Amino acid sequence: IPVDPFDLVIFGGTGDLARRKILPGLFHRFCAGQMPPSARIIGAARTDLDHDGYRGIVAEAIEEFGGNLGGKAQKLKDFLDTVFYVTIDAQGEDGWPELQEFCKQKDRIEAFYFSVSPSLFGDLAERLHHWGMAGPETRIVVEKPFGRDLATAKHLNATLAAHFSEDQIYRIDHYLGKETVQNLMAVRFGNMLFEPLWNSQYVDHIQITVAETVGVGGRGEYYDKAGAMRDMVQNHLMQLLCLIAMEPPARFAPDAVRDEKLKVIRALDPVLPHHITRGQYEAEQGAEKQHPSYREAVGDPRSKTESFIALKCHISNWRWAGTPFYMRTGKRMSARSSEISVVFKETPHSIFGADAGRHRNVLSIRLQPNEGITLGVTIKEPGPGGMRLIDVPLDMTFAEALGDDSEHVDAYERLIMDVIRGNQTLFMRGDEVEAAWAWTDPIIEGWESRGEVPKPYPSGTDGTTDSHELMRRDGRKWREVS
Ligand code: NAD
Repeated sequence: IPVDPFDLVIFGGTGDLARRKILPGLFHRFCAGQMPPSARIIGAARTDLDHDGYRGIVAEAIEEFGGNLGGKAQKLKDFLDTVFYVTIDAQGEDGWPELQEFCKQKDRIEAFYFSVSPSLFGDLAERLHHWGMAGPETRIVVEKPFGRDLATAKHLNATLAAHFSEDQIYRIDHYLGKETVQNLMAVRFGNMLFEPLWNSQYVDHIQITVAETVGVGGRGEYYDKAGAMRDMVQNHLMQLLCLIAMEPPARFAPDAVRDEKLKVIRALDPVLPHHITRGQYEAEQGAEKQHPSYREAVGDPRSKTESFIALKCHISNWRWAGTPFYMRTGKRMSARSSEISVVFKETPHSIFGADAGRHRNVLSIRLQPNEGITLGVTIKEPGPGGMRLIDVPLDMTFAEALGDDSEHVDAYERLIMDVIRGNQTLFMRGDEVEAAWAWTDPIIEGWESRGEVPKPYPSGTDGTTDSHELMRRDGRKWREVS
């Protein structure tokens, strides 16, 4: 279904994020007929370019990051007709009159994507207001990182709130735009089967793993000031935790969902120091590969920033009291994989004898690669071998069976279309972000005050030995990263 005509201004339209995600995503929506031909995309950045110069950059970005373009040459040409450019200085006056000229057309939705350093968010908000472009219907989209602690997040929220109301601010967390994350909500709240079991009485524990094989790469300078806690846990893992743990909202509506997520964050207990382990990857030397260590990559031989973290936390409410939530994320791990696993308790008694063992069901929500949801169920091993039990995965995604093309819709393109539709359900609200920092800050302050140094772990492995010990102490195991 096409969205209404819109103008989307991309501040930072020549940057990495715009070229890799935003512009190819918009092109896909254009090809799918969702972006109306009268819509306009206006790149706005510091680089001095004219419209055609920018169109060249957009075409290159789509060729490089837009997937298979076979047979889409005409579409690309038509798409480029919707693209414009303004050279602008977020901190000065250059370019603002030209942008204002673009934004005069009042028959359409207007959205501004802040795909620039967060240090410019305030400048952009102020200038949009000053130049009369911040109308009551205007939407702004802001990228992570949203602050580096509670104080900076509050300051950023206050700066944006000075010019825009909360229902105009779309804080992106692209994990929420993934098909499977939405499917998780459909599975949880669209079936009678799961909700009665979704509590500490039946769930043994929950694991969330976001593993990357890449190192810090060219982001070393930014990453070393952030670390895995700020870069991944405070936002992405926390959002996944909320969706898995929240109470059923009364409606699938923005504030109903976000109210429930906020309650989860507020119910999180402080994390005990011995329930967290941090690591830094070591250099990898192989016949073909040679990767620097974390400290070499960030250029600081004494860096105390973590590239891996594993922790156990508890949610103090009726539903989850006593059920541990384990989260881990890191770079240079053995495989690229993001998965949430709900591990149910063992059957209380085996009627098939001690040899058959007691089995557990595991519901796995896989975000990447191969997005999908599977439920591990125990069945009889087929054949004449007697009553032997095996665990098999029950696929609950059925994307192929339904001929569904949803897997091709990237999280960014889905979220941008939600901005145009005015649907904030999959965007973080200001109070959620602040509550997440309020939980994260004391943990980081603890490391700093104790002068704690992350432990080394070999590249290509699944983190520190302490992270395995964290599970072993509880008689549990991390699921394999694959
Ligand atoms: P980038 O450095 O590649 O691009 C920055 C853009 O901002 C450029 O287009 C540049 O011209 C523009 N710019 C810089 N100063 C300006 C000024 N004074 N006035 C006008 N324009 C100015 O950055 P990026 O990687 O595209 O990241 C953009 C934002 O998205 C950042 O907040 C980043 O943290 C966030 N983000 C990026 C990624 C990613 O994959 N690149 C992922 C998540 C979040």
